[in-house]
Formats: sequence, C-alpha cells, structure tokens
Amino acid sequence: MIVLKFGGSSVASATAMSRVLDIVEKTAERDRVILVSSAISGCTDALIEIGRAEDPEHLIDQLEHRHLAIIGRLFTGKERLEASGDCRNTFSEIRCIPPVIESFGELLSTRILSRKLSCEGYKTVWLDSRDLISVREGIVDIAKTYKAINDAIEEHPEAKVFVVPGFIARTDQGQVTTLGRGGSDYSASLYAAATGAADLQIWTDVPGIMTTNPKLVSSARTIPEISYKAAFDMARYGAKVLYAPAVAPAREKGIAIKILNTFDPQNPGTVISGHNSAIGEWKGVTSLDDEASQTSTVCLIGEGPVGGKASLRRIGTALREAGIKALGNVRCEDGVNFLIPVRTNVARSTVAAIHREFFEERALRTIDVYVAGNGAVGKALKGIVDACGGRFLSAGKRLNIKEISSDHGFADKVLRTARSRSVFVDCTNSTEIWRKFIPLFNAGINIVSSNRRSLAIPYVDYAALKAAAAENGCFFRYDTTVGNALPILQSISDGANCGDGVTLIEAVVSCTLNHIITSYDGARSETFATLLRKAQEEGLTERDPRTDLGGRDALRKLLILSREAGVPLEEKDVEIVPMLGKEYFRGSIDDFYSRLEKDEPKFIKREDELDAMGMRQRFVATLQKKADGRFKADIRMKLVGIDSPFYWISGTENVTIIHSSEGYPLVIKGSGEGARLAASGIIRNILQ
Ligand code: ADP
Ligand code: ASP
Ligand code: MG
Repeated sequence: MIVLKFGGSSVASATAMSRVLDIVEKTAERDRVILVSSAISGCTDALIEIGRAEDPEHLIDQLEHRHLAIIGRLFTGKERLEASGDCRNTFSEIRCIPPVIESFGELLSTRILSRKLSCEGYKTVWLDSRDLISVREGIVDIAKTYKAINDAIEEHPEAKVFVVPGFIARTDQGQVTTLGRGGSDYSASLYAAATGAADLQIWTDVPGIMTTNPKLVSSARTIPEISYKAAFDMARYGAKVLYAPAVAPAREKGIAIKILNTFDPQNPGTVISGHNSAIGEWKGVTSLDDEASQTSTVCLIGEGPVGGKASLRRIGTALREAGIKALGNVRCEDGVNFLIPVRTNVARSTVAAIHREFFEERALRTIDVYVAGNGAVGKALKGIVDACGGRFLSAGKRLNIKEISSDHGFADKVLRTARSRSVFVDCTNSTEIWRKFIPLFNAGINIVSSNRRSLAIPYVDYAALKAAAAENGCFFRYDTTVGNALPILQSISDGANCGDGVTLIEAVVSCTLNHIITSYDGARSETFATLLRKAQEEGLTERDPRTDLGGRDALRKLLILSREAGVPLEEKDVEIVPMLGKEYFRGSIDDFYSRLEKDEPKFIKREDELDAMGMRQRFVATLQKKADGRFKADIRMKLVGIDSPFYWISGTENVTIIHSSEGYPLVIKGSGEGARLAASGIIRNILQ
C-alpha cells in the first residue's frame, strides 16, 4: 500500500486536481493507493467563518460556486450532473450550520476526486474517515482506528484506490470531530501506519521541509533528509508544512515520510526517517507565534547536539547585526534546539537573521587567515572580522581567523599547519619576517602585508618575492603599506589615468611628519618640541622620533611606490634631505629635545617668513622621470603655494599626486593613519 496525501493548495482548482490525479494514477501502476485529501485551499477557514457569521449566505454561495466550478471543469454530461447534485446536497447540510461545520470541506473535495478516478476506470472506493478514525478524550484511539481501517480495506479486495477525507474523525461518543488544523497529515500517517504502507507521501506546495518558511525567506533551501525527531521539532515549533502529530504513527512503524511538491513532482523533496546521517548539523529555523501576547519563539533546530556556547554566540551576533533584542534569555533545549523569545513584529526579521547566520554561509567561500602581529592593526583586524561573524556577504566570502600571534616562530608554525590557499597577514613591524614569504608562497599560501619593512628590501629580494607569488599562483598584496587604506598602489599598478606611464609621483605620505608640520603654527599655540613630544606619547612616531624626521619611513614608502610604478628603485638611489640639520641626529633624545627648544625662535621666524610669502612647507617624496628616461628620487622639504594639493592638508592626511603623459594628474587624498583603516584595507586585500 502507498499512502498519498494532498494538501489544500494541491486540490485548489480543477487544474491542480488533474495533477493530483496524474500522480495517483502513476502510483497506482505500482501498488494499491490510499489517497488522503484536505479540503480545497481556504475552505476550512471559510467554513469556520460561515459557522460564526450572522448572515453567512453569500459566503456559502461563494464556496459552493468554487466547488461547482471545479466540477464543471472536471466532468461532463451525466457525471457532471451527478457530481453537482452531490455537491449541492452537501451544501444544503452546510446551510443548516451543523456542528463541526469545518468537517465538510474534506467531504466535498474527496468526493470529487473519488468520482473522477472512478470515471477514469480505476476501481475506487471512498471511505468515511469519521467511521474509521476514533478519538477518545481528545486522543486518537490507535488500536481501534487501525483495526477499523484494516477491516474497511479488507472489505474491498478489488479496490485499487481508496479515497479518504483527511482531518475528520469521530469521538467515542459518536460526535464528528477533527484532528486539529493541518490534521490531514495526521490522518495520512494513521492510514499508513495502520496498513503498514510501503510509502507515505505528503504532497504540498513547496519542495519539502525547507531550512525555513520559503514564503518568508526566499533563500530557504530544501532539507533532503531529516530525522523524525528534528522534523517533529520543526513542525511543533511552527513549520506548517508538516503537522507535528503526523510524525508519531509513521515513526512507530518505521515508515519514511516523504514531503513532495505537487507542482514539481520530479523534485526529490524531503525524506523523514529514522536514518540520521547528520548528527550535529543545523536543520532549520522556525517561528511560533502567540497571538494573545504578541510574542513569538524563534527556534533554531538541530539534528542532535550542535554545540552550546559557540552557537549561542553566533545567535547573539546575528541578533546584534540585525538590531534585534530578544525578550529574554535564549534557551537551549536538550542541548539541541535554541529558543529565542522575541516580539512578533520582529519574528520574521529574526528568522531571516538566524537563517543568514546558520544556513546561508555555506554558500560563502571560507578563507583561513593567519595574522602575524597582535598590535593595534592585528587587534583591529580581529575586531572587524569578529563583529560580522567573519561574513563578507557582498564578496561571497567568510574569513576565518585561525590564529593571531606576535611570536617569532609564527610563520614557521603556519607553514606546518596551514592549508594551501590560506592567507598569511603580516601586520608586524619586523624587518625579518619577509624571509619566510618565499616558503609560504611555495606552500600555496597567499600573503597580505601592511608592514613596509617587508617590501622596502633590496630590489632583488623584492623581485624574488613577487616571482615566487606568481609561480605558485598566490596573491601578494600590500596596499596598506602606502597611504593606509587609500587606493594609491592599486591606482599605480592598474595604470589608472596613466597613458604611457607615470612621469612624476609626488607624495606627502608620512603621517607623523605631516601631523607635526601641519599642526605647527609658529608656536602661537605650542612649540615644535611639545608637539613632537605629544606625537611621540600618542604613539604616532617611532620610539626615537628622529627616525621619522630623518625620512626613513617616507623612504620606504617611496621605494614601494616607485617599484609599483615599475621603477626598480634602491634605497641608495634616493636622496634624502632630513627636515632638520645633521646636528639634531647626534646625541641622546634628551639632547635632541633641548636643542629643539633652544631653536624654537628660529622655527617661529621661518614660519613667519613663509606666512608672508603665502607658502607652506611639506615633506615630499618625489619620483621624477628625467629627460634621459631614467628616474630621480628624493625626499625633502618643499615649499608649496595655495595652488598645490599639498597646501590644504591637515593632521594625518595623505596626498599623492600621480602625473603621467596624459592630461591632468591623479590626486589621491585622504586619511593615511588609523589601525581600523589599515585593518579594513587588509580585509579588502584579502577579499579582492
Ligand atoms: P498543505 O495545504 O499542503 O498541507 P500547508 O499550507 O499546511 O500545506 O504547508 C505548506 C506551507 O508551509 C508552505 O507553503 C510554507 O509556506 C509553509 N512552511 C512553513 N515553514 C516551512 C518550512 N520550514 N519548509 C517548508 N514550508 C514551510
Ligand atoms: N483542511 C484542514 C485545515 O485547513 C486540514 C488540513 O488541511 O490538513 O486545517
Ligand atoms: Mg498542512
């Protein structure tokens, strides 16, 4: 025996019924069939309304008309007359508003189906579920019901197809009753269990039990296999696709329940069985609303224990991201399901947020990230990634920070443990770490660096790193080494705005110097020494601020910029004129500061002169193509007038001007400082 149950939308019209009949007829070729049907969609609701309405006549007419229209399309001639007469008789009873009026819908639909099957030549018997399914004190009397079903079937050994109404039953007191809203699924399960059916198929308007209600979240996916327990939990917590009590009878007899789509019969749908291949996997998210209190319980359902605290954290993140506040504690049930109490008006967005967190990420490609350097940038990087649960939906990727470390041996450890295609991030200030890059590339590991010292190395070494990356098909990105998150290197390497190539790059890229120079206004507020000391205290300068003043940082940036423009510059090719004389660079830091204080009047005088000329001084790194085609590089103080993009910069702003043989120069200006910006630049480099 095979039990096929069709829900309201599967029998909602003559066309839908024809599909049902096709499915039944195909199945009947293999085995005897019990066809269980719901009322046509909306019918049960309409009957309940009729039962309550003061003047239900027009509602009754409408419902009758719907049924007669179906009959009109399915039958012709004498059959049509008989079917219509039958239908009208039932509506005469409905017009008397009998008790349990909602029980009539299934009578109407199944009589139509039964008659049609008979017309098509199938040996069909309509059985009255009210006489077979017996309810005692609100509970189905299983023994009595199973016996009655089997007796009825035995009475018709010739029958190929039995057609039975779902939903309805009778109490032991003899009154008609129902199995509760959605109860036809339960009827079908009872018929299947009673007859020991080989198959129980529940045909509906969606392709199986899905990860969530597809009418609420369009990215819901069909769950191919699910255990009885998890299906039961989905159902009792609100997945309307299955009526929860329907699980038990089939489960007790070990009959698999298939949930299939009437409108896409080839779709394999969902199989609910005792075979549980996915312990520890999330199955779906549902919502159970309580109308009276306007609250809902959103449930995340797992297949067996799914991991307590980590899951709880993910739920927390998902809610936070969606701006949803739970009404109380998120509760874990049996170590498996999570129950989230929320207001009903946010239930839908909660379901969507939880679905996104637990069911949509599989579409994202996961990238393992190893972060060398646990300073400000490393921490900011971790903070950004944690805050979004690692998911960067627009890039279709998920970043998984495997480890973050400032240990010396970290690169070696990554070499031993990381999978190929992972990303190694260098946000250290190490001068040596680059020596590990070639082995990392050889192991198929990509590298993103914000550490200038890893790039401002001898040109041969730099070229060897690039070659190793290319040979191994790895990426090697370091945009944040110049201008932090500004798209400077990228613009140069992409040849943006460049025509035949770069002819001149001028850059104010040293944040520290910039900050001091632009803040200094001739001691009207603070002396040069005080400004520098403050910058040092804020961590804006190197430990010995003279490193910055000497232009070393700008030198590294200029090397990186030039090489990106295809000019194989070496340190020795760059002429650096520090902003202070040689005498400042001798002696201790204290000597240095006292010299600065002594010279303050000179600085004030210089500032006044510049003011008078309408000029400002900026510490500019320049790479310029000479007439002979070679490049000249220097870093020095330059005076700039009001027409220069360098004139109006303040604080830690960076400006890079890229001139080419074509048209106007490209000017890139923006914030050149900040750990969070650097971290976001690194993330962009990873996701790119
Ligand atoms: P039928 O009339 O066939 O019994 P129901 O309306 O009772 O159909 O159940 C099917 C509906 O259940 C679907 O149209 C869908 O909107 C809803 N539904 C809710 N949760 C889920 C889920 N997790 N998977 C599939 N459908 C769901
Ligand atoms: N027709 C009933 C209802 O709408 C039973 C069912 O469809 O399962 O609740
Ligand atoms: Mg249903």
